Amino acid sequence: MHFMWRPGRWSGPDLNIGRPAIFGGVMAKDFLKDAKDHYDVVVIGSGLAGLTSANTLARQGRSVLLLEHHYQLGGMATWFKRRNGHIFDISLHGFPIGMVKSCRKYWTQKIADSIVQLKGVRFENPQFSLQTTFDRKDFTRLITEEFGIKHKTVDDFFTFARKMNFYDDQAMTTGELFEKFFPGRDDVVRLLMEPITYANGSTLEDPAITYGIVFSNFMSKGVYTFQGGTDKLVNQMKDEMIENGVDIRIRSNVEKIEVGPDRQVTGVVVNGRRIGCDAILSNANLKQTIFDLIGPENLDKEYVKEAEAVRLNTSSCQVYIALKPGESFDHCGDLLFHSEHTGFDIDAILSRNVSSRTFSFYYPETRPGHDRYVIVSSTNARFEDWANLSEEEYAASKQDLVDTTLDCLEQYVPNIREKVDHAEASTPVTFQHYTKHWRGSSFGTKFEGLDVSRKLPEQIGGLFHAGSVGIIMSGWLGAVNYGVIVSNDVDKYLTPAVATV
Ligand SMILES: Cc1cc2nc3c(=O)[nH]c(=O)nc-3n(C[C@H](O)[C@H](O)[C@H](O)COP(=O)(O)OP(=O)(O)OC[C@H]3O[C@@H](n4cnc5c(N)ncnc54)[C@H](O)[C@@H]3O)c2cc1C
Repeated sequence: MHFMWRPGRWSGPDLNIGRPAIFGGVMAKDFLKDAKDHYDVVVIGSGLAGLTSANTLARQGRSVLLLEHHYQLGGMATWFKRRNGHIFDISLHGFPIGMVKSCRKYWTQKIADSIVQLKGVRFENPQFSLQTTFDRKDFTRLITEEFGIKHKTVDDFFTFARKMNFYDDQAMTTGELFEKFFPGRDDVVRLLMEPITYANGSTLEDPAITYGIVFSNFMSKGVYTFQGGTDKLVNQMKDEMIENGVDIRIRSNVEKIEVGPDRQVTGVVVNGRRIGCDAILSNANLKQTIFDLIGPENLDKEYVKEAEAVRLNTSSCQVYIALKPGESFDHCGDLLFHSEHTGFDIDAILSRNVSSRTFSFYYPETRPGHDRYVIVSSTNARFEDWANLSEEEYAASKQDLVDTTLDCLEQYVPNIREKVDHAEASTPVTFQHYTKHWRGSSFGTKFEGLDVSRKLPEQIGGLFHAGSVGIIMSGWLGAVNYGVIVSNDVDKYLTPAVATV
C-alpha cells in the first residue's frame, strides 16, 4: 500500500527524533545522556498504560526506564498549543467514574481530585433530541418515558449488561444483545450504541461483552473529565514518576527488542544505543510490538498467525476549533452526539462521507484560569480513506472536513465562522505519525487482540504488553487499569520464586 509520510499535524515537523547526529557541525542532543546500561524494566511508550506501568513498577522498587519516541508524554492522552494562547485536548471527551479510584490508588489523591462530572450529554438526530446525565437512572427514565419500553425490560437489560464479564460466553454479538431486549427498536439501539461507537469504534458485530463492560462502566455514574486539561494531568503524572525514581526519556525511539537464544528479553535498541534489562513492558501498538520490534522469526508460527488476524480500530478524525479571545458561546451541553442519518447506521458513522459528529464543548471552567472557548469535533473515518490520497487531495480533504464541520456547528453556535480564530483537522494518518500505531489505530485492537497481548510472555520470557486492546482495555480507564494488571505480572516475573520446604 502506498503511504505518504506527512509532517507533524499537532506541533509542526518533528526533526529531532533519532540517534545523536551531527548537523552542520553541531552535535544533536543525546536524549539518553547518563542513562544506565541496565534496568530491571524498560517500558516502551508513555501512553496512559505505559505511564501507569512505569509508576507502579517504580513504586514496587524496580529500576525503570521509560522510553517515549515523541517529545511529549501521554500518547493519545495529549494536547497541543496554537498561536494566540489556544490549547486543544485530543482525547479528553469523557471517561467513566472508575478513573477516580484508579487515579487515587495508582497515582495520587491530587490527580483524583481534579476529576469532575460532565452533566450535559446531548443527542440530536432525526429520531430524537434529548439531554441526559448519561447514567442508569436517567437512561431508564428516557427509555421508559420517551421510548415507551417497559420498566422491567430496561431493568433486565441493565442487569444483564452489568453482569457480563470476561469469562462469560463471548459468542453473543452486541447486535444480538440489542435484539434480545429491544427487537426492532432502531431508535433505542441508537441511543444505547451511538456513544459507545464514538467512544471506541465498536460495532454491532463486536462481542456483546465489549459493549456490556464499557457501557456499564459509564452507566454506573455518568461521564467524567479532568479539570485543568490533559497537560495538567500528564505533568502531575510526570512529577509523581520522578518522585518514584522512574528514568524518563522523551525523543527516544525504540527500534528493536533484543531477544536472547533462550527466547528471553535481554535489552532494547533505542536511538541506536543498546540498553540491557530483565523485563520489557511494551505500550506500543500490539502489532508494532510483535512485527516491528520483535519480528515473527522469534515467535511460534501459530501465535504469529493469531497476531496477524488481529483487527485494529482505525477510525479517528478530529476538527479543533478555537474561538477568538473574548468570544464565547451559550451553554450547549458538554458532549453532543449529532447525526443527520434517519436511522442508526454504523457504516455511515465510520464513513468519510461524514453525517455524524460528536462535539465536545470546552468552557473556561475546563481549564480554570484560562478564558477560552474551544470545540473539538470527533468523526469516525477509516485510515484507508486518507492514507492513499495525494498530498493535494489530503490537504483538500482535511479542509473540507473543517468546512463541513463549521457548517454543521452553525446550528449550535450561531455565527461560528465570525467567532473562529483557529481551526484545523487531524486524521488517522496524523495519529499514526505521532504514536507510530499501525494505521493510526486509536482505540487499539478488536476483542481478539486481548488474548494475543496476554499471551506474549509465553512466547518471549520477560516480554509483556499493555495498552489499548480488546476494546475493553482501551480508553483512559481501560489503559490505566491494564497498565496496573500487566505491571503486576512483570513484578511477579521479576520476583524470584521462594522455595518452600
Ligand atoms: C481522537 C481520540 C479521542 C479519544 N477520546 C477518548 C475519550 O474521550 N475518553 C477515553 O477514555 N479515551 C479516549 N480515547 C482513547 C484513549 O485516548 C486511548 O485508549 C488511551 O489514551 C491509549 O493509551 P495507551 O496506553 O494504549 O497508549 P497510547 O496512548 O496509544 O500511547 C502509546 C505510546 O507509545 C509510544 N510509542 C510507540 N512506539 C514506540 C517506540 N517504538 N518507541 C518509543 N515509544 C513508542 C507512542 O508514541 C505513544 O506515546 C481517544 C482516542 C483518540 C485517538
